[in-house]
Amino acid sequence: MNIEIINTGSELMFGLVLNTHQQWLCRQLTDAGYTVSRQTAVPDTGPAIQQIVREALARAEFVIVTGGLGPTSDDLTRDLIAALLGKKLHTDEAILTRLKDFFAQRGRTMPEHTHVQAQVPDGALVLPNPNGTAPGLAMKVSPNPFRPDGKTGWLVMLPGPPRELKPMFTDHVLPLLRQKFPLASTFICRTIRTTGIGESIVEEKIAAPLKPLTDAGLELGYCAHYGEVDVRLVARGADAEKSAAAAEAIIREQLGTHVFGTQDDQLNAVIVRLLTERKETLALAESCTGGYVANRITDVPGASAVFLGGLVTYSNEAKQNLLGVSAETLAEHGAVSAATAREMAEGARKRMGSDYALAITGIAGPGGGTETKPVGTVFIALATARHTFVLNPVNRFDRPTFKQITCQQALELLRRTLVKH
Ligand code: ATP
Repeated sequence: MNIEIINTGSELMFGLVLNTHQQWLCRQLTDAGYTVSRQTAVPDTGPAIQQIVREALARAEFVIVTGGLGPTSDDLTRDLIAALLGKKLHTDEAILTRLKDFFAQRGRTMPEHTHVQAQVPDGALVLPNPNGTAPGLAMKVSPNPFRPDGKTGWLVMLPGPPRELKPMFTDHVLPLLRQKFPLASTFICRTIRTTGIGESIVEEKIAAPLKPLTDAGLELGYCAHYGEVDVRLVARGADAEKSAAAAEAIIREQLGTHVFGTQDDQLNAVIVRLLTERKETLALAESCTGGYVANRITDVPGASAVFLGGLVTYSNEAKQNLLGVSAETLAEHGAVSAATAREMAEGARKRMGSDYALAITGIAGPGGGTETKPVGTVFIALATARHTFVLNPVNRFDRPTFKQITCQQALELLRRTLVKH
């Protein structure tokens, strides 16, 4: 079967918004065993939307259209598609009541034009949107007027905002797709997430032991992000579960503690979970990452159980006054040094009373490097009750990448320490 994704929005054409739906929807569909045959982005003008929907329905049995379901004058998707398929729109009273409640609960007057979001093409299924006002719509196109064979197709419309679209896709669109177009055979897609090891070393370690399984049909893929490498396993057929489990066991054995999770596990969330399980706490002292590590930790719901606080100590004075770094250490070794990182971590741990403290000091660049301490030099210290460890990587990247990679290394230092002790 063919699945097509159409993303609408002139903001996508102007480069004002990155089309993350394309990547996210394709990833979800692939993980569920479906392959997208085409993805298209078009401006939210009538002719462009109608033309691409007509073309997509002529090729694909399942078409997902995103964007343009809101209340503003450029939100035309619903009307244009209803017109294209010859369907009248009617007001759905349940949606209208929900819209009125939505505004009443927030003490706001409902703008007149909001009513359009309660308009539903005749025969369409309404897909609830718990995070916004515009519901999604699913329409059975039968017979399909754009195919010579008239074969039934499905067309799904989802609102543009990612926080609305994502749960709607998972809760309603995927089940609909599975129901209408069940997979012919068992399909398993598993991602094993690793960190602290490069992509080619990952491959060197696992490709040979996995060869009997890949020869037998297991698909293996690698995807590198900042400081992380994902190994993707795809198994099909009656033995899919057995084959994926055997492959995962081999990967875990070969890569050991470099494996930090599976599927959508995130390193920051793994750390918060490990600390929570151990009833231990963390403090941070950051210089060149400017609070980035604190930001990653506080992205995780429940971080307050383990995260005591973070200090961004950019100047020497702040390092001295807030963390107790000695003037001698700064004078003798400099602010970017193992000795300073160590005193920052130990100072943060002591002053905040945490079990662990991470400290980071480095030269993000582009200026500020010297012959002995080039741009990218970083010292990452982790103070624990027993020891203080110091790492000294050289992260020679642009400034934002420097911050991301350095943060990743700091989190990984902490994670490895937690899983080893
Ligand atoms: P509403 O107008 O009620 O917010 P809508 O369904 O009309 O919802 P759009 O107006 O098309 O949605 O998009 C709303 C916002 O959603 C955009 O400004 C953009 O921030 C985000 N968005 C839309 N399409 C995409 C996309 N393909 N990828 C990432 N973000 C998107």
